Formats: sequence, structure tokens, C-alpha cells
Amino acid sequence: MAVNHDRMTMVDSRFRRFLRSVVAAPECLLCAGVIGADHLLCEGCRADLPWNDPACLCCAQSLSVAPSRICADCIAQLPPFARACAPFRYRGAVAQAVQSLKYKANFLTADWLGAAMIERIRLRAEPLPQIVIPVPLHRARLRERGFNQAQEIAKVVARGLQLPLEPNWARRTRSTIDQIGLNAVQRRRNLKGAFAIDRRVAGLHVALVDDVMTTGSTLTELARACRKAGAESVELWIAARA
Ligand SMILES: [Zn+2]
Ligand SMILES: [Zn+2]
Repeated sequence: MAVNHDRMTMVDSRFRRFLRSVVAAPECLLCAGVIGADHLLCEGCRADLPWNDPACLCCAQSLSVAPSRICADCIAQLPPFARACAPFRYRGAVAQAVQSLKYKANFLTADWLGAAMIERIRLRAEPLPQIVIPVPLHRARLRERGFNQAQEIAKVVARGLQLPLEPNWARRTRSTIDQIGLNAVQRRRNLKGAFAIDRRVAGLHVALVDDVMTTGSTLTELARACRKAGAESVELWIAARA
């Protein structure tokens, strides 16, 4: 019954997303207030969001001092990714949105989280990556949830930036145990060899997409696997940074 209920919520959410795309409903997704046709949130709700500024250019970790552009962690040990973009910090309305996408299949939140990521990514002067890859879920987890939240966000971002999305180029080869409670060394061991990457990434500039980045151990391991498979460079596009 629970599965059926989730499926219904998912279908319902997809249907509402479709309806929204054909019927112009200028209503804020958070407070139902009035908005312009080109936005998904009202000005008030947008202003109240936990924007991730200033943040490290490399790992998107929140910085307290604006002028330092790279955090001490990244200076101490250079990560396998060249840069990270995360418009939000993982708290308040954004944390709720991420959870409602993940656990209630509320796909409308992927739309506005993705829209904020696109806005942020478009500010750059450097060329965009050539390919977008969402962080994969293990098959068992995917079956249980019915969708991959990272892929839902990646879909929105790739479409908005007109970049190819390759959800099958990264695969989880085994189910990893929960990272909570593990120290850095244990996390690394837990994830070692957990990803298989399609050789077509060779020579490409890749963007990896995820909903949340906490310690970054999963994204770091995935970026490392992409580099090992020959990717020229890897960057991270995250909705929210913890
Ligand atoms: Zn609002
Ligand atoms: Zn950093």
C-alpha cells in the first residue's frame, strides 16, 4: 500500500508539473503568493532563502570571510574536482525542499532548485562543461525510491543550459553502507571502487550533479573515478551545501 501511495504522489506531482507547464499559474511554490510568469518563487521567498554566499570557489563550503576565495581545506589538499557551484546552504526552506523532493517525490522543487543553479552557473565567464552526469543511486535504492533525485535536478539544469545529460555514464557497482558516523578514512574505504564510469568521459569536461553535498566524500570519490576514466576536468553542481 505504501508503495502505491508513493507512486500516486509521484504521478500526481509529475502531473502537476505538466499542468504548470501548460497552464500559466503565476503562484509562488513556497507561499502561493503572486509572482511574475518567468519565476517560480515570489521576491520575498527568494530573498529569505539561505543563499550560500560567500563560498569556496573550489568546494562551495561556506566561508565567513568574503575575500578568501578558496577554503583552507582545499588549499591543504587539492580535491579531484576543479570547482563547485552550490547556490544554497542546506537549511530552512531549502532543506525542506530537498527532503520533499527525495521523500515525497515533489518534482516541482527540482524545478526551482535547478533554476537557481542555472542562474548561478550562468554568471561564469569560463566555458561550460560538455556533459552533465547525476550522482547515481544503487539499483536497489532506485527500485525502492522509484527515481533518482539527483537526476531530477540534473534534468532541469541540463535542459536549461542545453547540455547533454548522461545518467548512465556513472554507475554504483555496489551498495555502500550509510556514511553517517564514519570518519574520513572509513568513508573513503567505504566508497573505494563504488563507481564504474563509462569510458566515453575520456577527454571531456564533466559536471557532476547532486542534491546535497555534506562532507563531499561521495562526490570526491565519483570525481576521482571520472578522472581515472580519463575525464579532462570535473566540476560539481550541487543544489545545497551543508
Ligand atoms: Zn513566496
Ligand atoms: Zn574549499
